[in-house]
Amino acid sequence: TLLDTDPDAGLSPLEFTVTPNPAAKPDEVREEILANPGFGINFTDHMVELTWTVQGGWHSPTVTPYGPIALDPAAAVLHYGQEVFEGIKAYRHADGSIHTFRPDQNGRRLQRSARRLALPELPVAYFTQSLRELIAVDAAWVPSGEDQSLYLRPFMFAKEAFLGVRPAHKVGYYVIASPAGAYFHGGVNPVTIWLSEHYARAGEGGTGAAKTGGNYAASLLPQSEAYENECDQVVFLDKNRNVEELGGMNVVFVYKDGTIVTPQSESILEGITRDSLLQLAADRGHHIEGRSVSLDEWRSGVASGDIVEVFACGTAAVVTPIGVLKGRDFIDEQPTGELALSLRQELTDIQYGRIEDRHNWLVRL
Ligand code: PMP
Repeated sequence: TLLDTDPDAGLSPLEFTVTPNPAAKPDEVREEILANPGFGINFTDHMVELTWTVQGGWHSPTVTPYGPIALDPAAAVLHYGQEVFEGIKAYRHADGSIHTFRPDQNGRRLQRSARRLALPELPVAYFTQSLRELIAVDAAWVPSGEDQSLYLRPFMFAKEAFLGVRPAHKVGYYVIASPAGAYFHGGVNPVTIWLSEHYARAGEGGTGAAKTGGNYAASLLPQSEAYENECDQVVFLDKNRNVEELGGMNVVFVYKDGTIVTPQSESILEGITRDSLLQLAADRGHHIEGRSVSLDEWRSGVASGDIVEVFACGTAAVVTPIGVLKGRDFIDEQPTGELALSLRQELTDIQYGRIEDRHNWLVRL
């Protein structure tokens, strides 16, 4: 029943109850944070909360002071990890207006993730509204510096106090927000990638395509292995040694003839940054292929000069060239070119309102 209903049919907007934060940070404290926001360290003054129950569906939409969530120690999420989330940014344009980017895509991905985790599907209209409601009270937290944004983190989890293993009957949906500067220290310099040969991130029929906490938990140990090997990030393979993705970014290969190839499989998270960059590349006449890419194809393509650029992409860092691929017994220098950074420039120019939004990707908040 959760799966079959059209969640957006006949919906009117939610009526949020707004409780302003009496302890909101003073202007000068906020300004100091916005001058040097880092990533994911500081949070705005408010958060959105919605509750879902089997009996009542989605109800009690509120905007409340940012703060701890009271949970019963038996809440299912703490035991069985029934949780999904999203990541999307709000951008301030030169005229002061605030926009987000393709929220319908994140809303639909949250629905797909929720379906896989047997959580209720939040209507996309409610998803977009929830972002707008938070921005309505925390607009001052959207920074205006170069490459800065307000990172929005919608998430949903099982709140029912019950230790039986079944989908929870009570679920909470929240949105919090964190001002963001550059994601990787050192800006858009090429990163060094560790090839995880022992640990996988996802398996066939598993949850790899869902944005759920367990996938990230599974990536932490291989990520430490990457650090131990002086690498910035880790890249995962499937059991047939096809390239999947990094812990939090998709991978894209550029070929000598202009063809752009990106791994496609049922266990990869479908990135909205990747989709947008590939659309921009297609607009420029590049041929795009979503298909399996084996580790052999990557390594031999680099060795022969057929592959001329490799980059990673995602909401947080946008585009990061891959400079080195390091495995247990090899170090492959990667070729670097102009395309990754030029696509990055075009995408961020659209996001920050510096050029025409020809695909109508921006939504004003
Ligand atoms: N893969 C994984 C595992 C991710 O966590 C992310 C970040 N959401 C991405 C890819 C890139 O997705 P997006 O471009 O939508 O941020």
